[in-house]
Amino acid sequence: MAGDGTVKLIDEKGIRLDGRKADELRPVSIKIGVIKNANGSAEIRMGKNIIIAAVYGPRELHPKHRALADRALIQCFYRMSTFSVNDRKSPAPSRREKEISMVISNSLSSVVLTEKYPRTTIDVYLQVLQADGGTRTASLTAASVALADAGIPMKGLIASVAAGLINDQVVLDLFDIEDQKGSGDLPLGYCPVLDEISLLQLDGVFTVKQFEDSLNIAIKGAKDLYEIQRDALKQKYTDIRAEVEVPEKPKAEEPKVEPKVVPKPVLKVEKPKTEEPKPSEDDKREVE
Ligand code: UDP
Repeated sequence: MAGDGTVKLIDEKGIRLDGRKADELRPVSIKIGVIKNANGSAEIRMGKNIIIAAVYGPRELHPKHRALADRALIQCFYRMSTFSVNDRKSPAPSRREKEISMVISNSLSSVVLTEKYPRTTIDVYLQVLQADGGTRTASLTAASVALADAGIPMKGLIASVAAGLINDQVVLDLFDIEDQKGSGDLPLGYCPVLDEISLLQLDGVFTVKQFEDSLNIAIKGAKDLYEIQRDALKQKYTDIRAEVEVPEKPKAEEPKVEPKVVPKPVLKVEKPKTEEPKPSEDDKREVE
């Protein structure tokens, strides 16, 4: 919920409370395949946020009457763990969680080729383990990677980040205090491959210029996030290759075998007996 914008959140040099510049993302890391039972999964760490996304399906939908004849249904279940925030959160699903689940589901449905799996469901579970503002956008970023990890065909990945207003200045990727005390929040879901926006929400009051600047800064941030998503997916296959490829064993030294000395066959060539030439009569006479 946006505040009234009176708390000082950015200094004269444009440095925010956590040391970032206006257009800087928080440190982000994405890990693939963290839930072995799922068809696809990802863990995102964005600042202090830690969120797990796990994808199950396409699989049979229950109750069956909810199935769509021509495409798959994408069901998202965004949940904040009770321990993810300072004031314990009630375990009962809140209206906010239902709303976030719905907008993430709508955003993903715009890129997943759902028509390939009619009458099925693709379930996406999003569990926030630690929250620090921007959990809806970080969840969407992780969900998109988890779907790719599950091998579900998509037109492109969705990268999601918010821009917002703190002390009337447009900044990227609000963390918790900025989200609570700032005066505006504009979460964006963006597909860089299609150059399409799949999620756009707005909380607070923006001038037209502030809105345009926020949109531009969020699209730039999403493009940077997209590179991190791609790298995470590539890393998975690099790891698999390293696991599968058996390194060539150094050849064990063969025991030295003394070469057998095979005696050369002795060939006895019997000389043909040549008959001594008989002395002729003349020779005999000479001797005499
Ligand atoms: N929050 C909380 N308790 C709740 C729900 C939210 O303390 O039950 C805090 C939490 O820090 C969370 C922030 O409010 O990170 C909400 O910001 P986020 O961007 O995650 O959600 P959105 O503002 O998009 O609804």
